[in-house]
Amino acid sequence: MKRWLTMVLGGVGLAVAIVAAVVLVRASAVESLQSEVEPVEVETSVDGQAALERLAEAIRKPTISSSGDDADLEPFYEFRRQLERDFPVFHDLASRQLVNDLTLHFTLEGRDSSAPHVVFLAHQDVVPVEEGTEDDWTHPPFGGVVADGFLWGRGTLDNKQNVMAMLEAAESWLESGESPEHTVHFVFGHDEEIGGMDGARVVAQQMEEDGLDVVAVYDEGLVIVDGMVPGIDGPIALVGITERGYLTVEIEARAEGGHSSMPPEEIAVTRLAEVLKKLDANPRPAAIDGPTAMMFEWAISEMDFLHRMIFRNLWLFEPVVLSQMTASPGTNAAVRTTAAPTMLRASDTENVLPQRAVATVNFRLNPRDSIDGVLADLEDLLGSEYITIRPVGEMRSEPSPLARLEGPGFEKLRRALATVHPDVPVAPNMLTGAADARHFTGLTHDVYRFQPLIFTDRDLERLHGTDERIAVDDYLALIEYYGALLRQW
Ligand SMILES: [Zn+2]
Repeated sequence: MKRWLTMVLGGVGLAVAIVAAVVLVRASAVESLQSEVEPVEVETSVDGQAALERLAEAIRKPTISSSGDDADLEPFYEFRRQLERDFPVFHDLASRQLVNDLTLHFTLEGRDSSAPHVVFLAHQDVVPVEEGTEDDWTHPPFGGVVADGFLWGRGTLDNKQNVMAMLEAAESWLESGESPEHTVHFVFGHDEEIGGMDGARVVAQQMEEDGLDVVAVYDEGLVIVDGMVPGIDGPIALVGITERGYLTVEIEARAEGGHSSMPPEEIAVTRLAEVLKKLDANPRPAAIDGPTAMMFEWAISEMDFLHRMIFRNLWLFEPVVLSQMTASPGTNAAVRTTAAPTMLRASDTENVLPQRAVATVNFRLNPRDSIDGVLADLEDLLGSEYITIRPVGEMRSEPSPLARLEGPGFEKLRRALATVHPDVPVAPNMLTGAADARHFTGLTHDVYRFQPLIFTDRDLERLHGTDERIAVDDYLALIEYYGALLRQW
């Protein structure tokens, strides 16, 4: 072999050895961000069986969110009457404000009027059961059936369990004669599933106008996932510290109209199709940064060695990890801003060429992006004299600021979690969807989106899908969790 070739190969071999050594050393020197936290003393006075029956009754009320005039509001009124009946002490001590007739805003005055306020969010409304899928349910979606260790029905995970668990916890605590030091708000929206614009948003705006000093907000969101984080066999609690932004745009393509018997070379529909194809071929960049990177930093001490090696060395392995993550919709949504074309319109008549063809595209923004940035890039990518891009709809939000991982909001959450699941590690993460919590980020950045329910990946499709159900044990733990959280405030 020629001498220079030997030297080159030797050099390559040495480089590989150095890289391997660095990878291994970094993987062995993992510092854990998991710390011991002390559980909260909770004397449970909640009768579990009775509480479960109350949630079952709540599930039997089809509080389907709707903005139309023909909406059936009666289930909301019935649900409200049930709450009044089930939680008399709470209703006695908290003041209630109705917002747009249906959203409930309770205020429980704190002993210290100068202490900052705390907000607990949940929502009363549920999504409808998709037509034609009713018979696929093991138990009727609005039956409130308890079987096989679960309570089945629409709203058991999203989100009546939170309304009821918060009130169960508050009722039993107040009954024992205790009261919070901080003023605590409970906001139960009626339109979260369609944006929360008439419910939670109005409450948040009112609080801002009143100049309330808010220290923490707790809402639904992420859960304890079991076997879903790579390299971790057991459960880990993922706490949502931000949610992605929301933006809908219309892309309009124009061309000459006319009769379809003599089509010109350029047609609006075809132009629109080309633009959509281009959008699809040019996804926004993906990266492991922000809350997703933080999640891996917190989770890494719980991973097996192989995954520690990978996630401690993202400087080397990020492309490999990203190619895996972007290959599936759930994890793709965690690493980039996504674009989803959802609606199309053009000519109303089969033999008339439209002068305009319009596509609606829904974007969900990663925290590294902004609405203006996305719009500017879209203009660069797709804009032309025939194409107009415009944001539409009332619902529009920047990615939420990151909640802090120190400070009272998070510390108390961790203690409450340790009370019900002492051995479960915790990690921050991002909500890829949207929830009412985002309306409150003007009051405080410390908005935590979490509930200690235990999910495996098959449970994800139950949300908004068929066979939504909650484990009875999870529900009882949820009540205890809110009891532990409330007692600290
Ligand atoms: Zn929800």
